[in-house]
Amino acid sequence: MQKHDRSESLFAQALEVIPGGVDSPVRAYGSVGGTPLFIARGQGAHIVDTDGNRYLDYVCSWGPLVLGHAHHRVVGALRDLVMNGTSFGAPSPLEVALARTVVDTVPSIDLVRFVSSGTEANMTALRLARAHTGRDGIIKFAGGYHGHTDALLVEAGSGSATLGVPSSAGVPAAFAGLTLVAQYNDVDSVEALLQANREGIAAVIVEPVAANMGVVAPAPGFLEGLRELTLRYGAVLIFDEVISGFRVAPGGAQELYGVTPDLTCLGKIIGGGLPVGAVGGRRDIMELLAPLGPVYQAGTLSGNPLAMAAGSETLAELLRPGAHEKLETLSAHLEEGLAWAIAEVKIAARVQRVGSVLTLFFTGDEVTNFPSASRSDRERFGRFFHGMLERGFYLPPSQFEAWFVSLAHTQADIEATVDAAREAMAGLA
Ligand code: PMP
Repeated sequence: MQKHDRSESLFAQALEVIPGGVDSPVRAYGSVGGTPLFIARGQGAHIVDTDGNRYLDYVCSWGPLVLGHAHHRVVGALRDLVMNGTSFGAPSPLEVALARTVVDTVPSIDLVRFVSSGTEANMTALRLARAHTGRDGIIKFAGGYHGHTDALLVEAGSGSATLGVPSSAGVPAAFAGLTLVAQYNDVDSVEALLQANREGIAAVIVEPVAANMGVVAPAPGFLEGLRELTLRYGAVLIFDEVISGFRVAPGGAQELYGVTPDLTCLGKIIGGGLPVGAVGGRRDIMELLAPLGPVYQAGTLSGNPLAMAAGSETLAELLRPGAHEKLETLSAHLEEGLAWAIAEVKIAARVQRVGSVLTLFFTGDEVTNFPSASRSDRERFGRFFHGMLERGFYLPPSQFEAWFVSLAHTQADIEATVDAAREAMAGLA
């Protein structure tokens, strides 16, 4: 049995000074039970907690660490930079370099503005869409997460498309009322909302690969349908590629599926593990941003040199020939191995994957949207999570999150994961 004494003691101390003991809710293990682990260090695909237990990491900081922990290129660049100052509040060469890579790699992006989180990127994208269209309404999808900005903390109360109600206290009903909720992979649910609100909808915002209800791929025609509808109704199409960007293909989901949005939100990988977000897109819309245009947006640490450097080094490594193919091969083996383990153990579960993000859902039925994701057996997931943790595998502590594979994972890591998953699943019956 692993010992978690230090984590338990740190958590007790944290509870005295931090709400719930964590700085982001999912870290609290609320849906799987137990005490969150306090992590001391990471190297490659592994992390070590404060009690000295070592784990193979499938969280990878929720996506940014596509090269693994403490990659020598990222660490080297940061070490060189930090001696010369960490923030200037003035332009620095590194943001131009990263912006150039983003513009050259992501098909729809003519101009890009860096911010410090995915939440900020989405907030700014909405403001731009509203300024561009002169409209206020937003359509999002049930189970789609775009950060914790007021307008986007709204989910459908039930399976069908409904008027938004806040999914957090403190969000004014008046704000939430501007957000309408459609069903992922259901173009008709979007069209119905657009039709009922002709002239009212500024934007449709979507994770082109849904990853916050667990991983759900867009059905054939879904993204194309959103593109066609938004053009027809004069709304801005926003792809939130905070997870999928640079991950599912060099140019993100828009490259993989060949659908071009008007605006794209980025984060995670482009900061290589330091705090970053970005919004980019069509030149005419992006030129609405201050100081060129009337849409105000700013940030003390925006374009921070350390974050820009970590992002540039990460992208340089990830955009090398063969890198995405390697991620795909590793991830496909993981998917196949887990599917084999599920069949061996004869348990109601399925694996859904796009590129190097996947989810093992404890339901036998295909997951296509939030209602079908919600039918997963969360109690079973909680026991599976702890079974894997005990065997040295660190999974996201929620049924509705993605596992992230990195370039630091090896074939042997994948095989060990499959063996452990088979044992852990066998223990659930
Ligand atoms: N969009 C998506 C698709 C995300 O997955 C997340 C965070 N997981 C965000 C936005 C918010 O990003 P951040 O946590 O950096 O604010």
